[in-house]
Amino acid sequence: MTGRKVIERQRAWVNHAACRDSDPTLFFPDALRGGTKKAERICVHCPVIAECNTYATEGQEEGIWAGKRRYPSHKKSLR
Ligand code: SF4
Repeated sequence: MTGRKVIERQRAWVNHAACRDSDPTLFFPDALRGGTKKAERICVHCPVIAECNTYATEGQEEGIWAGKRRYPSHKKSLR
């Protein structure tokens, strides 16, 4: 299997994401200043929440991923 096919297989879960047709602004940093309930409600019913959680944790993503608020590591130290 080529490297590209491995990456495509690893990211195949995205095609099943409950948020794939949602407004992205619900899930990214500006949402952290406002309400996050809409994004969290979408995540609760997502069939790939485990895959999303692994991806976001390994990639240290920020925003709303797998129903959790995630902040960049440099901001965590400020809390
Ligand atoms: S868990 Fe939430 S952020 Fe992750 S793919 Fe599903 S709907 Fe999107």
